[in-house]
Amino acid sequence: MIANKTVLTDDFGRKHNYLRISLIEKCNLRCTYCMPADGIALSPKASLMTADEIFAIAKTFVNNGVDKIRLTGGEPLLRKDFPEIIAQLSKLNTEISITTNGILIDKHIAILKQYNIKKINLSLDTLVPEKFQTITLRNQFEKVLDNLHLLLNQEFKIKVNVVLIKGFNDNEIIDFIKLTEFLPISIRFIEFMPFAGNDWDRSKMVSQHEILQQVQNHFPATELETLENEKNFTAREYKIKNYLGSFGIISSITNPFCDGCNRIRLTANGKIKNCLFSNAETDLLTAYRNGESLENLIAFALQNKKKIRAGMETIDAVNNPVLNQDNRSMIAIGG
Ligand code: SAM
Ligand code: SF4
Repeated sequence: MIANKTVLTDDFGRKHNYLRISLIEKCNLRCTYCMPADGIALSPKASLMTADEIFAIAKTFVNNGVDKIRLTGGEPLLRKDFPEIIAQLSKLNTEISITTNGILIDKHIAILKQYNIKKINLSLDTLVPEKFQTITLRNQFEKVLDNLHLLLNQEFKIKVNVVLIKGFNDNEIIDFIKLTEFLPISIRFIEFMPFAGNDWDRSKMVSQHEILQQVQNHFPATELETLENEKNFTAREYKIKNYLGSFGIISSITNPFCDGCNRIRLTANGKIKNCLFSNAETDLLTAYRNGESLENLIAFALQNKKKIRAGMETIDAVNNPVLNQDNRSMIAIGG
């Protein structure tokens, strides 16, 4: 058995205290950058983690140093046993947060409040209703916006995730930032990333540099404030002077932040992924069901974690379809 404190530390000295658990592979939207046009082959129900298994596996991580858990998916709020999952995880005394498309927030807000889940990342890629339909293939714009306001009225801490795609929503960067004048939210512009079946190509990606150029062309330099990065940051953060909210840029492609990575992912079918970009998976669920110890497997997964983006150190490597398509679709990883 490996000593507890080393289980979650990789060969580069990075300590992984942040576990992101995907609860489900299904979704009530079909965002084209996430869900392949033909859908994905879903795991059989019997090979998905139950609420009890999620708790037991998460507990092993917590015993070894995890103190932050984020629930994601697919759409995590689609899990019928979401209340039970939260009730169990809350016994672990870690911070719990969720990433959601927001559609089912009103149905779950009481449970979120009951268990003090305050940090919500809500995905919204456009402020134009027709474009919402184009990118998600569903007509739910009003619902998401209503639920965003519902959360704000109840003083949740909201980050709005915006995946930027050239020619689609890069003309809304300033509009999103203007939302932060009166709303205490953080907008996070995310560089479009390649995953199996999402038709990524480099020319569709809006880079950190291009985002900042738009910002600098619009706002005077004296108005733009650079904020201190959070510990283990993914977003480089800015704000416009006197605005209530802020904005950040998640530049996984053009300016990765792997040096400070503290994240490890557990898929809905119980596989560890040591990096979003990695196709390597370690099966914890089968080991758990066989009564085996999980620590050695977790340590093994982290010992194989590469320094930068699963070994894709350059943009040219990320751009290589042989490398970038050899991974799950995002919907089955959990962002
Ligand atoms: N359904 C939830 C939601 O949309 O927030 C949670 C799961 S979703 C996979 C998590 C995050 O991944 C979302 O903010 C989504 O925008 C982001 N995402 C999905 N595909 C992406 C891609 N190809 N590049 C960058 N971000 C992506
Ligand atoms: Fe569903 Fe979220 Fe993927 Fe959109 S980004 S398809 S809401 S999992």
